[in-house]
Amino acid sequence: METNFDLAGRVALITGGSRGIGRGIAVALASAGAAVAVNFRSREDEAAQAVADIERVGGKGIAIRADVAVRSEVESMVDRVTAELGPIDVLVNNAGVAVIRGLDDITEEDFDETLAINLKSAFLTIQAVAPSMRERGWGRIVNISSVAARGAGSVGVHYNASKAGLEGLTRGYAARLAADGITVNAIAPGLIDTEMAAPLKEAGVADRIPVGRIGTPDDIGRAVLLTISNGFLTGQTIAVNGGGSFL
Ligand code: NAP
Repeated sequence: METNFDLAGRVALITGGSRGIGRGIAVALASAGAAVAVNFRSREDEAAQAVADIERVGGKGIAIRADVAVRSEVESMVDRVTAELGPIDVLVNNAGVAVIRGLDDITEEDFDETLAINLKSAFLTIQAVAPSMRERGWGRIVNISSVAARGAGSVGVHYNASKAGLEGLTRGYAARLAADGITVNAIAPGLIDTEMAAPLKEAGVADRIPVGRIGTPDDIGRAVLLTISNGFLTGQTIAVNGGGSFL
């Protein structure tokens, strides 16, 4: 049985791959042999660091600025990755925002922005990459959800809705792309040690995690590799949360 999953010759695009969980995923895919494009929106220096991390594990990486909530920017990004690395085989929709809002201070703008960045973005990227994956008869799509898709969470109802929507999108695309050799899954992390999670870490949420520690971007990178290595696994959400729904 072949056990080492090899992505040599494959091209991956990680949205929000410049830091946090996305960078962990980028390094994991590069370690498995993929050429990796890391997307970012504003922090170019972090994206350069991610490319350096990819090169440190012997991989090839490029950084691409694009706002994933804007169709024209997503299309240009996909065109650039295709021109510089080749057609995209692995798409990881990871870019997201978690603006903490209570019941009484959430605004319509908060709701719209969160849905655009966390949910519409995945629709835009999948629309842009799926035709080429279908033509080639192989593709792997992973959407980064959250335990907040099913639990109450600590961010707000806008975040709950965006991640629950992302899991619905995952199942919808999985069913429609399965016959083309393309799997579509979601990973729902618990608390992972990144800038986004800092307020929750300070609030002591980590103390309630059954395995006794906060998660790392590397934990999620490994989960992405596991998910895409199995062509019979599609339409699923895999919880990677240290053993509990605690957010
Ligand atoms: P993070 O540290 O805040 O990093 C967010 C990344 O997304 C950055 O690379 C950022 O780029 C990028 N980004 C944000 N908005 C973007 C946009 N409109 N267009 C393109 N890129 C954009 O977040 P994280 O903790 O790594 O979270 C990554 C994903 O995991 C998110 O979807 C989040 O909801 C999910 N998640 C996180 C946790 C956790 O505990 N950390 C738990 C469950 C789920 P710039 O730096 O250029 O802004």
